[in-house]
This record gives sequence, C-alpha cells and structure tokens, in this order.
Amino acid sequence: MPALQICVLSSEIMPYAKTGGLADVAGALIRNLRLLGHDVRGFMPLYPVVREKHAQLQPVPDLQRVAMTVGTVEYEFSVLTASFAGTDIPMYFIDCPALYDRPSLYTADPDEHRRFLLFTRAALESCRRLGIAPDVFHCNDWHTALLPLYLKTLYAADGFFARSKSVLTIHNIGYQGVLASSALADLNLGLAWTQLDQADLTRGVINPLKTGIKHADRVTTVSPTYAREICEAPLGMGLETALRARTDRVIGILNGVDYLEWDPRHDPYLSVHFSAQDLHGKERNKRLLIEAVQLQLAPNLPLIGMVTRLTAQKGIDLLFDAMPELLRSREFGLVVLGSGEERYEAFFTELMQRFAGRVTYRAGYDEPMAHLIEAGSDLFLMPSQYEPCGLNQMYSLRYGTVPVVRNTGGLADSVQHFEPASGVGCGCVFNDFDVNGVSWAVNTALDWYGDHPRWSQLVQNAMAKDFSWSTQISQYDTLYRGLVEAIS
Ligand code: ADP
Repeated sequence: MPALQICVLSSEIMPYAKTGGLADVAGALIRNLRLLGHDVRGFMPLYPVVREKHAQLQPVPDLQRVAMTVGTVEYEFSVLTASFAGTDIPMYFIDCPALYDRPSLYTADPDEHRRFLLFTRAALESCRRLGIAPDVFHCNDWHTALLPLYLKTLYAADGFFARSKSVLTIHNIGYQGVLASSALADLNLGLAWTQLDQADLTRGVINPLKTGIKHADRVTTVSPTYAREICEAPLGMGLETALRARTDRVIGILNGVDYLEWDPRHDPYLSVHFSAQDLHGKERNKRLLIEAVQLQLAPNLPLIGMVTRLTAQKGIDLLFDAMPELLRSREFGLVVLGSGEERYEAFFTELMQRFAGRVTYRAGYDEPMAHLIEAGSDLFLMPSQYEPCGLNQMYSLRYGTVPVVRNTGGLADSVQHFEPASGVGCGCVFNDFDVNGVSWAVNTALDWYGDHPRWSQLVQNAMAKDFSWSTQISQYDTLYRGLVEAIS
C-alpha cells in the first residue's frame, strides 16, 4: 500500500518535552507511523527545555523570522529542525521566544491562547512554504484543534491543502482551551468567524476543542470506553452534544506502550532487571525502592505505588478518607510520586508525617523514580474519576505490579478484574467512585497478596498482557486510509 504523508502537531512530544501522557503518545505515534513506512513529520513549539537539551537543531532556510499577526499583535517565528531521535523523521520546532520562552510548557498568562494559535498557524504556514500538503494533519487536544477550521477557511483559498484531511485526537476532554469571545480577533478568522459555535459566542466564550470536533474530518480519542463515555454527560464535559452530532462519532483507539522504555527486562532506568520467568529482580527492586524513599517496611509486606498528576481527575479526594483508615487497619506501605494541586500535596505530606516509615510522598517530576516505583511496588493505585486512557496501569501490568483501578475509560479497557476462582484477570477493578469503592478494591487486592499461589497467578496474568504500539498503530493506519480513500 502506498505510504501516506502525515504531519503530527502536538504541544508536547517525547523525548523533547513532557508534562503527561500526551507527550508519550505523540512521540510513539510519530515513530510507529514511520515504522509502517509513512512519511511523517512532527511539529511542536520550541520551549526552552528543548533548546537546552537539543543543541543540534538546525534553522530551516526560508523559514526564518517569518512575520505573523495574531489578532493585532505582531510576532516573528522561525523554524528549527532535527531528526527525531534515532530516526530519519523530520521534526520541526516553532521558535517564537516572545511566546514560548516561559518557565513551563503551559501557563496561566493572558496570552496562553495566542501561544497555541500561533503554533497551529505557523505549522500550516511552514508546510505551505516547504511545499508539504500532507494527506493527513493529525492534531492533538485543544492546542491545535483549530487547524481543521483553518484548513477550511484561512488556508482554503488557493487550494494548496485541498486534498489534506484532518484528524483530531482528544487525549483529555477536561481541557478545552476555552477563551473569552473578546479574543475573537486573535483567531484571525475574518468573516469565517460565523463557523464558530454561535451559542457559545452569545454566551461570551470560544471553545477551541468544540470547534475542532465540529470541523475535523475524524475525531478520535484514546480508548474505546472513553469514546463512549464522552458522548454522554457528565464525562463529555459539555461537549457530548457536539460529539453526538458527528455522524462518524468518536473513534476510540487505545494507546500503546513504548516497551523500549517500559519493560523490566531492559528498562534503561533500572539497575536490576527481571522478567515473568524470573522475578528475583522484582524483589531486589522493591528493596532498592524501599531504601531510596526511606520506608521502614518489611519486604514481605505489600507496597502500593502511585505516580500521578495531582488533580481531581485522578481520584485523590477519595483517598482523604479511605487511605488513613486503610493504613490503620492493614499492613502495607505507600509510595507516591506526583505534583499538582496544593491540597493534594498537603494531604500526602501530612499522611507521610502521620504514618512515618509507611508512607512516602515525593513531590515533583522524576522519571527514574517513576520507573523504580513501577518496578518495586506490588500494587499500583489509580482510583481515577475518569481516565481517557492512562498509561501507568499498562506499565504496571508489564512490571508485574498489580493495578488497582476504577472501571472507567482506558482503565476499563486494559485491566480485567481478577477472579480467584477461575484464575482469570490481571488487576483489581472497582465501579463506584466513592470511598467504599476504593477501600474495597485495596482491601481485596491486599487479601490476594496474602495468598501466594493466587498472587503468583495474578502477576503472571498481568505480565502476559501486551499493549504494543505495533498492534495499536494499525488502527490509525486504517483510519487514515479510510479517510484518504473516501476523498480520492
Ligand atoms: P495523564 O496524561 O493524565 O497525566 P497518563 O497515565 O496517561 O496520565 O500519563 C502519565 C505519564 O506521566 C506517565 O508516563 C507517568 O509515568 C508520567 N508521570 C506523571 N507524573 C509523574 C511524575 N511526578 N514523575 C514522573 N513521571 C510522571
């Protein structure tokens, strides 16, 4: 089959810049599409962190100091390029210090929307100047969700992109990029402003993600269950009607796992490796973890790990009541790595003081520690309110770290509840988003841990699960081909 030309736009891409799963997925998508033989290009903003770590970036001739007006503000952008680490894939970094030289990838600055409006238009402008009219523009989340509308309006006149189709992937519908309608001019839509949702404008807002849902040729999200959940309230978060209005609806494609990074047999961050056939290394990692985070836990007692952004989505509120009671009534250790909202950081800090030696909380972002927690814990807790896909439960499975998860989104699609009687299943799944639900799940999993033959079976089931990108990527391939064939 002929290769397709695909441009992937994302506000974060691994290994360049990451705050969450989006970066992992965008990076994996780019690499795995190339492995299928497609002509792929990646676009992202040039943040300071990229500049510092990737000295080999080269300026693209003809794409230097390009003037671009966003609303009434004049900017200049340049494009730098490099091959995606270890491949021949061209990566293009949009350099606009006025917008991207900030301490973090995302900000609460008043011009936040302009940072991504410029990024989206600069990517389109760069493609046109480079003579690239791809078969597919693949946009991700609200940051680049206006591209489908720009293709049909701002960039429609000369027909250059006439054959280019757009795919929008929603990684988390909780982030819609809503802005005040007073910023309408910043979208540079001219008369095409009428294409925006008029009811929203009357209410005084513009919703980039909703605009993308309406105008993209295909909308996907990152698990089949989440695809169904967001077509209804409450998880559609106000966009359920817009999603249901699409005749093609939303296609759910479960994310894959990068097993080059996340496999205990060769994890580059681990000093001790292990496999399903020989779990001695897992025990050693548990000891190393206990030592590293200074827990006082006998190695035969269960250790629960968490690596997470600390936001309401992740279900931390349930732990306010559940965890102290669990720690009082059961013997286990808890290690938490994550940062985010202050009240959650305060909760874990206080829990650590109250249950000294049994609970450790590490604030901040720490990639090696994330790997050690996956390798050294016995259980991995994700009591999410909603979870579009979730990666950590899939990583946990591969490390024989039994996931304890809520029955939602990608957690539901990747973790089947273990039935001791049949020996089938790979984790502990609870339904109700409440204190009883999570307490039941942790208690149940701790009971299983105490029953060695059952636990061994469960660990083997978990480690046998396979979420390779090489399998998942074929679904994107089918999607693109269907889209391209439909128009030719
Ligand atoms: P989300 O994208 O909602 O944050 P995912 O489970 O899809 O959740 O992806 C989270 C990714 O970010 C995982 O790769 C996880 O290991 C990583 N991660 C989250 N918080 C931290 C942290 N504090 N330190 C290191 N890695 C983290």
